[in-house]
Amino acid sequence: MLRVRDVHKSFGPTPVLKGVSLEVAAGEVTCVIGPSGSGKSTLLRCVNHLEKIDAGVVELDGELVGYRESAGKLHELPDRAIARQRAEIGMVFQNFNLFGHMTVLENLVEAPVGVRGLSKSDATGRAREMLELVGLQGREDSYPRQLSGGQQQRIAIARALAMRPKLVLFDEPTSALDPELVGEVLTVMKDLAARGLTMVVVTHEMGFAREAADSVVFLDEGQVVERGTPSAVLGAPREPRTREFLERVL
Ligand code: ADP
Ligand code: MG
Repeated sequence: MLRVRDVHKSFGPTPVLKGVSLEVAAGEVTCVIGPSGSGKSTLLRCVNHLEKIDAGVVELDGELVGYRESAGKLHELPDRAIARQRAEIGMVFQNFNLFGHMTVLENLVEAPVGVRGLSKSDATGRAREMLELVGLQGREDSYPRQLSGGQQQRIAIARALAMRPKLVLFDEPTSALDPELVGEVLTVMKDLAARGLTMVVVTHEMGFAREAADSVVFLDEGQVVERGTPSAVLGAPREPRTREFLERVL
């Protein structure tokens, strides 16, 4: 579903991604782990073309993201085409990023109506289904501030799912939560993984990675240092840098 090949990205003179490759099959969960500053968020932002890559390719479901190829050259797509591609890639952020002036229901119907062109009533029906999926049916009329952080993040997940994306990217979805609220969000994410959602999850929750990931990627200084099954990478890491990192976080 997702193919990232030899992606390079610098900010000014500073290289942040130095040839990152990653493949995620449909229905699979990939966890990306690594130290702060290693380029994890940048990688996710490159996947949905929020950052323009300097070299390499990102493909979603066989289609280049952000570019079209013509006569062997890449041309950046017009904004409208990029927006259409982004609709296929859900994103869940550390800080929820819900629209604070909108109710839960309004948060969930906005993009399906505005971007996908669903009717208000179809979008409302779909929103209710998504709320049920994250265990928050009945909260349609609440405002984000009336919900706990864990509930807000579950709403943010429901909002991403309401677009029926091909892929959902999670950037440290539980890092901003009080410890007692982490579990409810991870439970929802494990449920989605079990239902076959294709996910890339940047996380420090090694328990989640061990249970839910098909594959774990260790990123350090803008490079994939090690990848494999959770039991291989987390249980028997081969690279000293992976071992060092895991000793610090476990
Ligand atoms: P991580 O998510 O792994 O903590 P990031 O991808 O956020 O890492 O950042 C990787 C590096 O890129 C950091 O050194 C960060 O300061 C730098 N960086 C990220 N975004 C920008 C930006 N927009 N402009 C300049 N530097 C950036
Ligand atoms: Mg980050």
